[in-house]
Amino acid sequence: MADIRIKTLTPLWTGGVDGKADRLHETGLLGSLRWWYEAIVRGLGGTACDPSKGECRFEREKFDTSTATDDHQRLRDAGLCDVCQLFGATGWRRRFRIAVARDQTVPLWQGDQPLNIRPPRRNRGWFLPPGRMGEFTLRLDGDGESIARMLALLRFVERWGSLGATPQLGYGAVEIQNWDEIEKPPRELWREAAQRWTCSAQTRTTMPNLCDFGFFRYWFRPDSAAWWSRIGGFERVAIQVRPFATQTVPVAPALKNAWRFQHWQRAWGNDQLFWGRVAADRIRGKVTVSWAYPRNGKWEICGSAWLAGVQADSVWKMLINVDIWNETLGVRGTLETVRPQTIDELLTFLERM
Ligand SMILES: [Zn+2]
Repeated sequence: MADIRIKTLTPLWTGGVDGKADRLHETGLLGSLRWWYEAIVRGLGGTACDPSKGECRFEREKFDTSTATDDHQRLRDAGLCDVCQLFGATGWRRRFRIAVARDQTVPLWQGDQPLNIRPPRRNRGWFLPPGRMGEFTLRLDGDGESIARMLALLRFVERWGSLGATPQLGYGAVEIQNWDEIEKPPRELWREAAQRWTCSAQTRTTMPNLCDFGFFRYWFRPDSAAWWSRIGGFERVAIQVRPFATQTVPVAPALKNAWRFQHWQRAWGNDQLFWGRVAADRIRGKVTVSWAYPRNGKWEICGSAWLAGVQADSVWKMLINVDIWNETLGVRGTLETVRPQTIDELLTFLERM
């Protein structure tokens, strides 16, 4: 068993009844953890089904008649992809339990009214739901190997990923408070897993694969407490933002607006598929950028881009152009970026957590 104490850096949104963030829902946390695990597994050459299609199903007979010598391959033979082996599927229960043990989070603002950030020249803008901020404990239970996997996954999510729903709107940046007290997963964990996962022929799918991702972290030291009030579109919401602006500032809309509407080149690909749209098909945007939050004496913004279906190099170059960040936010900052593109590079990246 492991208790992981987590502090939110940006609001956490795990879904709720009638659009209200009444409490933290484990299902919302699990959904995001599974999503990132799938992307890691695919990146390391493993198999990950599309959970929305429910393709995996454990068949006892096939397990019993499998001639494979290791359990992992036997489970594959029995109909489970590498993700379902840990997260469960029809006929196969999840290998770990996860529970929110001490939920001390509170809504960032009262009421269920979304915050509407409308950058200059946008008619509609972005609607941000009231997520929850504060500390909570995640209690993990299960066998040693599964717990180690989940800890490694949580560490990745803390450093470069996100927890909960709507990461595209900047939700779900978190910090683990007690990492030093936790029995850490072995350093070779991903490398060993990758060796097993790549034992059969792979096909590249159109699903998220970490070898198609870039990650970035921007930090800056603002010269005044009201640095955010100069960002385009914040005049209208200053009264709503001010009460929590020392904790976190919703900068994601301003950055996305700059990238999508001021710097995007048509030749790079379909901007609606890349940036998302709220039409009936509700395509999820491929860029995740957090709100800004103070950390270790600086302010920080982190995020990632799934660079599939576009001219990846050009898009990436725009996203990591620090001048756009500085200009949009009215501060001067530094950008740290990582873009692993092979299994080896991804392993090196994952081993640095
Ligand atoms: Zn599966």
